[in-house]
Amino acid sequence: MLEQLEKIHGEMVNIRRHFHMNPELSYKEVETPAYITKYLQNLGIEDIRTNVGGRGVVATIKGKNPGKTVALRADFDALPIPDEKDVPYKSTVPGVMHACGHDGHTASLLGVAKVLSQNTDKINGSVRLIFQFAEEKSPGGAIEMIKDGCMDGVDAVFGSHLSTKISVGEYGYRAGAFMAMPDEYTITIKGKGGHGAAPHQTIDSIVVAANLVINLQQIVSRRIDPLKPAVVTVGQINGGNAFNVIADSATIVGTVRTYDDEVQKIIQTEMERITKATCDLSGATFEIEYLRGYPAVINDKASTELVTQSLKKIVNPKKVIELEPSMGGEDFAYYLQKVPGCFFNTGAGNEERGIIYPHHHPKFDIDENGLLFASKALLTIALDYLSEVSN
Ligand code: MN
Repeated sequence: MLEQLEKIHGEMVNIRRHFHMNPELSYKEVETPAYITKYLQNLGIEDIRTNVGGRGVVATIKGKNPGKTVALRADFDALPIPDEKDVPYKSTVPGVMHACGHDGHTASLLGVAKVLSQNTDKINGSVRLIFQFAEEKSPGGAIEMIKDGCMDGVDAVFGSHLSTKISVGEYGYRAGAFMAMPDEYTITIKGKGGHGAAPHQTIDSIVVAANLVINLQQIVSRRIDPLKPAVVTVGQINGGNAFNVIADSATIVGTVRTYDDEVQKIIQTEMERITKATCDLSGATFEIEYLRGYPAVINDKASTELVTQSLKKIVNPKKVIELEPSMGGEDFAYYLQKVPGCFFNTGAGNEERGIIYPHHHPKFDIDENGLLFASKALLTIALDYLSEVSN
C-alpha cells in the first residue's frame, strides 16, 4: 500500500496546490469541503457525512475483516495572511493563505482514503476519516464535529501536522504534554479624548496602553513559577485616529499560552489586577474579554509508542525524533479527550530549497515530499493500530 501511495504522490501534490490556490478562512469553508466530498464519493466510499458540526466531512472505510475503529484527522482551513511566495501555486485569494499546511494535511488524507478504499480486504475493522473545518479559530471545528458524532464508535485517534521545523523525511513526536492551551484576550482601555495640544484635559488611553504592555510582562517573569511554561504575548495594539488628537480608547489584543490550569488561572487574575492598577494610575477604565482556547494536547503513552514503532518502519529510526513540548495550540486536543491517541509532526522543511519559514509566516511553504511521508505515516499507523487491537 505504501507503494500505491508513492504512485499517487503527484495527485496529492495537485490536490494540495488546488487547495493552496483556493484557500478558505475558518468558518467560511464552502468549496474545500465540497471538493473533499466529491473526491471521496468518486472513490466509491459509501459512508460519507457532510456538514458535520457545520462544515466538516466524515467518511468511514469499512474493512472486510471485523475489528475496531481508528480515526485519522486532517484540518482544511486557511489563515488571514497574504501569500508572499513567488510560486505558480500561490494563493489567488487576496489576504488569505494556507500558511499552516492544512492544505497538505487534507491532500495527504485524501491520498490515504484512495489507497485504503482500494484495499478494504487488508483492513481489520474501520478507518474513520475526519476532515475538519476551522482549526485556526476558537472555538474550533473539532468540538462541534465531536458533538455531531464524528467520534462515535471510534477507539483511537491519530493526526499529523506538517512542520518546517523538521526536515522532510523526518518525523517528530512526544508522549504526554505536547501542545499548550492557547487563550485569547482583548483589553479595552477607556480614557477621555481631546485635543493633542491640551493633554491636561484628557485621559490619554495610548499612554495607559503603552504602560500596560510593559506591565503585563511582569506576569510571567515575576508571578509564575519559572519551572512552569507560560507565555503572555501582546499581538495587537490599536488606538487613535489623528496626529493631533488624544485617543479616547485603545485596545490590546494578545494570547496566553499555558499547560497548567492553575497557571492559567493565575495569569487571568494577574492580568485583571495589573490592568486595573495601570488604569487607576491615570483614571482610565477598562474591560477585559478573556477567551479560554483549546485544551492542551496530551498524547497517550501507549499510542505514542505505537506511532513511533510505525514511523520507524517507514524511515530510518534515527529520523524519528523526540520533540520538546510546544507552546502552540491545536484543537486536536478535543479528540484526545474522547479516546487515546497521538498527534505528531511530519517533516516538511528543506533548508537547501529555502523552505524554512515557520507556520503562519507569509512565505510559509512545505516541501511537497512531506505529503507522501504524512500519508505513509497515517496509513501505516491506522493499519498497525487495527491489527494490534484485533489480535
Ligand atoms: Mn495548524
